[in-house]
Amino acid sequence: MQLADKFGRRITDLRVSVTDRCNFRCVYCRSANPETHMPARDLLAWDEYERLVRILVGMGIRKVRVTGGEPLVRPGVEDFIGRLKTLGVEDLSMTTNGYMLAERCDRLVAAGMDRINISLDSLDRDKFERITRTKTFDQVIAGIDAAQASALRPVKVNAVLVRGVNDDEVEAFAAFARDRGLIMRFIEFMPLDADRAWSRELFVPGDEVYRRISAQWPLVPVAHERSETARKYRFADGRGEIGLISPVSQPFCGFCSRIRLTADGKLRTCLFSKDDHDLRSLLRDGSSDSEIRARICDIVAQKEKGHRINEPGFLPPSRTMVSIGG
Ligand code: SAM
Repeated sequence: MQLADKFGRRITDLRVSVTDRCNFRCVYCRSANPETHMPARDLLAWDEYERLVRILVGMGIRKVRVTGGEPLVRPGVEDFIGRLKTLGVEDLSMTTNGYMLAERCDRLVAAGMDRINISLDSLDRDKFERITRTKTFDQVIAGIDAAQASALRPVKVNAVLVRGVNDDEVEAFAAFARDRGLIMRFIEFMPLDADRAWSRELFVPGDEVYRRISAQWPLVPVAHERSETARKYRFADGRGEIGLISPVSQPFCGFCSRIRLTADGKLRTCLFSKDDHDLRSLLRDGSSDSEIRARICDIVAQKEKGHRINEPGFLPPSRTMVSIGG
């Protein structure tokens, strides 16, 4: 069977958050103030994740991205990747801040992971430390080195651009992609930050990034699936690629193929959903696979048409990015 919503969008991609904890406190995501975390009993156990993903693969999910919080802070994540691989997931990836990647990369590859996205919001050490509120620049670069030296392909590096913070580094990031032959992706800042500081003045439109980079290095469009979040370009004269992820200035909801499973077992049909849907209670109350399947079909059918960020009266969801799973 193939999961689909009432607008006919086929749902093939699943983001699985394995924790709401993170060892970074990026300014556009988390607060400097203490935050509460999900109690351990609320987190899905690995067996529970495995059962849900098995059911979802049977419903047409082909791509799974493991995320968080920071997925590498949850012990056992490599074994979980190995278990997902045996379920027939075609495309298995992870989004990580890269801090623990250098020492974990080999095990992730051995477990069957196909590719990786690493967050890096500044190439300037001081600025990186201010954004992440950590002193981990060298470890993250070592994580990128390890990923590039491994069998993981492609290696994508993600930067969330925030006006006045790191938008002066667009060209430097492009040069980084060219030097290293990797994919550098520029993400528009979305209203999912814990401090609720987002405003339209703070996001940097993908078109501006395109103009600035192509003024220096001609770019050639790269074909991509319509459901992909990024508009992709390669450098006409050499290695490296860029991706523009522009959910605010150019929403791609019409082709969205994604659903998200939070670490406490809620299914979300949009990053900006007002409600999430509890699957954990079904896992724990003896519901059968077919009952869970029927519930998932009902939830997915109601997937929102779009995120409404640009509509008057938009209100961000109560969950922030770190507790949804980006
Ligand atoms: N800890 C991992 C990491 O740093 O990549 C995975 C989780 S993180 C929440 C996933 C992605 O969401 C990262 O690329 C991060 O930069 C992005 N992100 C977090 N808050 C965001 C926001 N307010 N707007 C846009 N992207 C955001």
